[in-house]
Amino acid sequence: MENAATPLDDVRARIAHAARIANRKPAEITLIAISKTHPADAIEPLIAQGQRVFGENRVQEAEAKWPALRERHGEIALHLVGQLQSNKADDAVALFDCIHSLDRLSLVSALARAMDRQGRRIPCFVQVNIGAEDQKGGCAMADLPALLREAAAAQVPVAGLMCVPPADIEPAPFFALLDKLARDHGLPQLSMGMSGDFETAIMLGATHVRVGSALFGARA
Ligand SMILES: *Cc1c(COP(=O)(O)O)cnc(C)c1O
Repeated sequence: MENAATPLDDVRARIAHAARIANRKPAEITLIAISKTHPADAIEPLIAQGQRVFGENRVQEAEAKWPALRERHGEIALHLVGQLQSNKADDAVALFDCIHSLDRLSLVSALARAMDRQGRRIPCFVQVNIGAEDQKGGCAMADLPALLREAAAAQVPVAGLMCVPPADIEPAPFFALLDKLARDHGLPQLSMGMSGDFETAIMLGATHVRVGSALFGARA
């Protein structure tokens, strides 16, 4: 049983394989290990294997887990992938290195104020409601140009676009659409692809994949 492959080894190999097929370099793709709901005990084995980029979807849960883990293990980049309330903008800017859920004008203002106050500017992804689903977070496609203009004016750095495509249907057309939108707006980065579809997302241009259950097992 020596050197048994871990879930992290497996996901890394699958990322590298998808990148090669797409004639891309694996190093162009950032694996964000989504550790929401999982305790420090489950996270530490991944840190021990060299994983240094993690994602959480709730500010409070991240505040409870990550300061101690960072204290123990040093530099770790934390990404926020869940909906952000404006009244948590200060906490989010203090804790996270990147925010993937910028989705409305009021949050642009809240983040701009938080970044000004803390003298810290962190890159953001604008989340797009790519399947135009009523219940889904993200800005409507039609509202994207105004949101990007407002972010530029407020000096909130936008690195790219993020999406969670509709469940239970083929995601590729939605990934391709997000890629087109990002190109149209001159945005270089794409946060798309989860445990079930990250290889497809990489073949369609993902620069950041957000992988949870394939690394940690199913969430309770
Ligand atoms: C939970 C979550 C993920 C990871 O999902 P898995 O299917 O477990 O890989 C990715 N992105 C967002 C926004 C999430 O909330």
